[in-house]
Amino acid sequence: MPESTLVPAAQKCIALVAHDNKKSDLMEWAAFNLGVLQNNMLLATGTTGRMLQRELQLPVTCLLSGPLGGDMQVGARIAEGSVDLLVFFWDPLEPQPHDPDVKALLRMAVVWNIPMACNRATADFLISSPLLLSAYKRRVPDYSARRP
Ligand code: PGA
Repeated sequence: MPESTLVPAAQKCIALVAHDNKKSDLMEWAAFNLGVLQNNMLLATGTTGRMLQRELQLPVTCLLSGPLGGDMQVGARIAEGSVDLLVFFWDPLEPQPHDPDVKALLRMAVVWNIPMACNRATADFLISSPLLLSAYKRRVPDYSARRP
């Protein structure tokens, strides 16, 4: 069976997550890209989202804090098809108590073919992509053969 496609509206849902040592990096990046972010729907793990609201006055839907289930909530929304792009600044130098959730979130993004930026350079490329402004036809892998 061919893979199906999703055609999100021009306004995308961007999910944002940053580990503690990466939060200042994300805030700087978000401040620089404020105009683009304001024109899209934003979703974030709790602490990251509240920082974006407080420091940049961005309208963000805040989920639970990452270690308390927020990463898994983002992953679930990816699986449901409601996230178009993930910016996830995870910390490669510090062990995380919720490492299994981090891994699960990274995995969900790959399973569902979601564009994902894990560092600033990639985030710069994604946010400046002309595809952000168009109805991009993302291929959604067809896993129906794997169902029992
Ligand atoms: P936080 O979660 O935004 O609530 O800090 C991020 C994370 O650790 O996954």
